[in-house]
Amino acid sequence: VIRIEGLRKSFGDHVVLKNIDFDVMPGEVVTIIGASGSGKSTLLRCINLLETPDSGHVWFHGQDLAAEHVDVNRLREKIGMVFQGFNLFNNLNVLQNCTLAPVTLKKMGKADAEAEAMRHLTEVGLAEFAKSPVTSLSGGQKQRVAIARALCMRPDLMLFDEPTSALDPEIVGEVLSVMRDLAREGMTMVVVTHEMEFAKNVSDKVVFMDRGVIAEQGDPQQIFTNPRMPRTREFLSRYL
Ligand code: ATP
Ligand code: MG
Repeated sequence: VIRIEGLRKSFGDHVVLKNIDFDVMPGEVVTIIGASGSGKSTLLRCINLLETPDSGHVWFHGQDLAAEHVDVNRLREKIGMVFQGFNLFNNLNVLQNCTLAPVTLKKMGKADAEAEAMRHLTEVGLAEFAKSPVTSLSGGQKQRVAIARALCMRPDLMLFDEPTSALDPEIVGEVLSVMRDLAREGMTMVVVTHEMEFAKNVSDKVVFMDRGVIAEQGDPQQIFTNPRMPRTREFLSRYL
């Protein structure tokens, strides 16, 4: 689904990503872990062109995103993104949050869009809140709406940037459980997270970033039980 080769990105003279290579295969769940400032969010943002790479390639379904004729909006319709801070439309209710993009961008009929939205709201356990204002929801519920909203665009790939970091500990689980269900259903996902249990148990591949490079990537069992790099070992030891 995604292939990244030789990706570099700097802000001014601060090099944030150096020579990143990695792939995401269809149906794969890849988690990205690493210390604050190691470049995790910047990497995700390069995948959906919220940041423009300085050099290197990002291919999405074989299409080079650096090519001049790439229709960024079309592309973003195929890539769902869920952020730490929900980014919902607070002036709309739950259902309207989910139907806005399908109706305006994909020209889907209102009734179809609502039926599809209700299916996804049911999946995330929020069907009964369809008519509620999003401002009345808890953080965990908001994040589940954000996931349902992204699914309404029928993405080929979902990107998550620390989706549970802003949540109270007791509601982190409800969001992770929705993500786990999505993974089981075969959604291709790239997840930046500090939830090591999720990384270990749900992902097919773990990528450890350290100061702008991928220091180590591989099978979660191997990374968590027998990391090759001292930096990985040191990072993981903080979570034990
Ligand atoms: P965290 O775990 O704190 O979210 P991260 O691994 O996601 O960290 P990034 O947000 O990718 O790290 O940031 C990597 C580095 O790039 C940081 O030093 C940050 O200050 C810098 N950076 C990120 N975005 C910008 C920007 N728009 N302008 C300038 N510097 C930036
Ligand atoms: Mg980040």
